[in-house]
Amino acid sequence: MGEKGKLTLEYYVLPENLERAKEQFKQVKNMLKAFEYWFGAYPFYEDGYKIVEVPYLGMEHQSDISYGNGYVNGYRGSDLSRTGWGKNWDYIIVHESGHEWFGNNITSSDIADMWIHESFTTYSENLLVEYFYGYEMSIRYLNLNKPMIKNKPIAVNPITFIQSAIPTIAVLFAIA
Ligand SMILES: [Zn+2]
Repeated sequence: MGEKGKLTLEYYVLPENLERAKEQFKQVKNMLKAFEYWFGAYPFYEDGYKIVEVPYLGMEHQSDISYGNGYVNGYRGSDLSRTGWGKNWDYIIVHESGHEWFGNNITSSDIADMWIHESFTTYSENLLVEYFYGYEMSIRYLNLNKPMIKNKPIAVNPITFIQSAIPTIAVLFAIA
C-alpha cells in the first residue's frame, strides 16, 4: 500500500534470472516508501510500477524501469558515489525510479534543461540515505559525493554537435 492506495508491482525478467530478481527487487517497496515520503505519491498509480530486464544498463520510462544492472547493488556492483554507501542499494533501480518524479512526471520542454531530470534524481539518492540512515549520514554522503560535480558548461555549438552526430546517425540507419 502506498500514498494513493494499492500500487501494482510487476517484474519481467529472463527465466534464468528469476531467483536473483526476486531477491534483488525486494528493495523496491522500501525505496518507493522513501520516495513517496519526500516527493509525494508515485505519479503513475493507474499504470502500476514495472521493472523489465534489458540487455543494457538501464533507462527510465513512465511507470517502467528498464533494468540491466546484473542483479547486484551499486552501479554494476561498484560504488559510483565512492562514499562507501553506494552499494547499499541498486543504483539503477533507485536512479531510474527517481526519474518517475523528475523526468517522467515533471519533464523539461527543452533538452538544455536536462538538469531538472538528472539533478533532482541524483539528489533523490541523498534523500534515500537520509530516510534510511539519518540526516548526519545524508550530509556525509552529499559531501563525499561532491567531487562528482564538475560544473562543466553544457552549451554545445550546434554546428559541432550536428557534425559529431552525423556518423552516429549514419550508423543507426545502417543498423536499422
Ligand atoms: Zn538519469
